[in-house]
Amino acid sequence: MTKDKTRVLVVGGGFGGIKAALELAGNDRINLTLLSDHDSFYYYPTLYHTATGGAEAQSKLPLSRIFEGKDLTIIHGKASHLDRKKKAILTEDGKAYPYDILILSLGSKPNYFGIEGIEKYSYNIVTPDNALRFKNHLHEQLTSKRQPDLNYLIVGGGPTGIELAGALTGYLEEIMHAHGMPKRKVHVDLIEAAPKLVPRMPDRMSRAIAGRLKRLGVRLYCGRMVEGMTADTLTVNGKPIQSHTVVWNAGTTTSSFYKENDFVMGERGKVAVDEYLQAEPDVYVIGDNAATEYSGMAQTALYDGHYVAANIERHIEGRLMKRYTPKRPIYVIPVGHNWAAVLWGNMQIYGLPGWLLRLAADMVGFKDYEPWWRATKQWMTEFQTEESCSTCAKHLQKP
Ligand SMILES: Cc1cc2nc3c(=O)[nH]c(=O)nc-3n(C[C@H](O)[C@H](O)[C@H](O)COP(=O)(O)OP(=O)(O)OC[C@H]3O[C@@H](n4cnc5c(N)ncnc54)[C@H](O)[C@@H]3O)c2cc1C
Repeated sequence: MTKDKTRVLVVGGGFGGIKAALELAGNDRINLTLLSDHDSFYYYPTLYHTATGGAEAQSKLPLSRIFEGKDLTIIHGKASHLDRKKKAILTEDGKAYPYDILILSLGSKPNYFGIEGIEKYSYNIVTPDNALRFKNHLHEQLTSKRQPDLNYLIVGGGPTGIELAGALTGYLEEIMHAHGMPKRKVHVDLIEAAPKLVPRMPDRMSRAIAGRLKRLGVRLYCGRMVEGMTADTLTVNGKPIQSHTVVWNAGTTTSSFYKENDFVMGERGKVAVDEYLQAEPDVYVIGDNAATEYSGMAQTALYDGHYVAANIERHIEGRLMKRYTPKRPIYVIPVGHNWAAVLWGNMQIYGLPGWLLRLAADMVGFKDYEPWWRATKQWMTEFQTEESCSTCAKHLQKP
């Protein structure tokens, strides 16, 4: 390592961290390290599809592939402590990684709001492994019990719950057919505490999505509170509903790293940052973790990663840094096959045009991380299906 190089340490191999690292790699004034707790980038927007028959590859890109030929060091480890005096990140396995400039992008984790039994008994689709666990459970029920669950309960009427509910009815029909079961109605219920779906979106959008879900056979229960869960039941508004398949999508919370390391927290339990996304001198916090107007979206994390990388380069070159201006994301929510709701500024788009926009957005998303030919190959995995259940693999799998 050359002494006069600035050591930039990026922690978190997700949307924000990878974008920042990709932009800084190759700058000959920077010695770059990316520290992440797993070896792949999780592409969350397609996880609902991985959970309902899609390929795992569409939601999981190896870091080694994304950074092939790039000038940086990738470390596998979990950051646990910030040593401010020594300017170093310590990992759970006791190693120390010094920095001159630190970028933190640690993402979110499910919030169970302390409701009894939820963490223990529910499923979620926040990682590819969890999405596959859920998919395997659906198949296992059909093979071991020879019948579907009495109720499939999806909690949380935000984009993730909606995407999953919209895909689940059709997928259950397909796999029941593949298992030779007679056609019958299955109960897929979407439970939301607020009086409408996607509460922060315009009313018209909530109504359009609700209409589409109903046409797909999903039953909607808005204004209902989940109060507890056991191995066999979910209690909603005081009433137990029988189910062995509850998927929790009702909220996320910021990585606990920040509270454990005495960061100043801002709105929505996220880290307070200044007009350059700095939480404190030389420590940038981006993506889901930063208390900015549009955090909580992949597009925001990407935008933040690009912004801090460009500003750090300016700073190192002795130029003036630019202030952060939040960018409103485009909201795209797929609901079942060939249909999506889009909110783009004040414009709303529904149906097949929305679906095509979503496909285009994924292509642009992959292109942000890989050269176009690889991004195209990655994008094509969205059209593949993958089944570990041998019966369904024979009937449903598309290479
Ligand atoms: C199921 C699902 C679907 C979604 N769909 C969409 C969508 O369609 N459109 C959209 O805009 N947004 C979507 N989002 C939100 C979007 O994925 C997030 O806003 C985005 O991932 C935030 O990027 P980030 O860099 O802040 O965090 P992440 O992308 O989560 O990256 C954080 C990384 O840090 C790693 N990490 C965490 N803690 C540590 C530690 N202590 N040490 C080392 N590494 C650590 C994590 O493993 C992860 O790799 C979805 C989210 C989910 C869960």
